[in-house]
Amino acid sequence: MSLVEPTVQGRGGREGAATPSSRNRYISSERFSLTLKLVDLSQEIAHKDKFGQHPLHPTPYIFPYITHEESAKQLKGISYTTEWLNINSHSGTHVDSPRHCDPKAGAMTIDKVPLEWLYGDAVCVDVSHFAPKSWISAADLEEAVKKSGVQIKRGDIVLLYTAHWNRHRGTPSYSTDNPGLTKEACEWLADQGVKSFGVDSVTPDNPIDQAQNRIFPCHEVLRDRQFIHMENLANLDKVVGKRFTFIGFPVKLSGASAAPIRAVAILDG
Ligand SMILES: [Zn+2]
Repeated sequence: MSLVEPTVQGRGGREGAATPSSRNRYISSERFSLTLKLVDLSQEIAHKDKFGQHPLHPTPYIFPYITHEESAKQLKGISYTTEWLNINSHSGTHVDSPRHCDPKAGAMTIDKVPLEWLYGDAVCVDVSHFAPKSWISAADLEEAVKKSGVQIKRGDIVLLYTAHWNRHRGTPSYSTDNPGLTKEACEWLADQGVKSFGVDSVTPDNPIDQAQNRIFPCHEVLRDRQFIHMENLANLDKVVGKRFTFIGFPVKLSGASAAPIRAVAILDG
């Protein structure tokens, strides 16, 4: 017999096992109140959302696999539902791995991308003054960084606010008319020691480069320098001109060229 009273407090401790009501009280207690503000930078992956994808990627389909009504017939006192996903690894907000454009054996696949490249100090630069289908050069980027009032430091993650999602989401032009970086602009970002970067459009490349010139300059940099980028970010207007902590971990798809991420900015207070 122990002479010492148990001192553990909280869930499973002297308050006893958590019942549904006691658990709700626990979650809403001050212990869970955050002083940080989380901003969701992700787009939804939605059934039949054909305008939200790059033209080379398929429309996502999300089907019910089993419904509550179906499962209720098999069970007593509970039912459940699940969904069957028919989506591309590049559906919705996602990150490309070097494997996407590197055919060599051993090219880095999404499950091998270091998590550190998608977590940490971040800034969002305003490039919303560039017109659809225009090019953003290295000099343009340098000037935009100066005007944004944010400094790029080595090891930062850089998000580029083109406002393309804000202005064109849900329309055909979202997937075809974004402004894009020149190769020199993408290399300039890599040269700053940036870990990764992201855009609020289907690609950081200019669609004219793709459709007429048949080139993907930023994807060449992805391949040649392992400089990964995120596509289809959202809500960058809420973090533009700010420094914050970014999290955007990819789903661990074995051997895949990309994976969806839940991109989040963490702001102080
Ligand atoms: Zn992609």
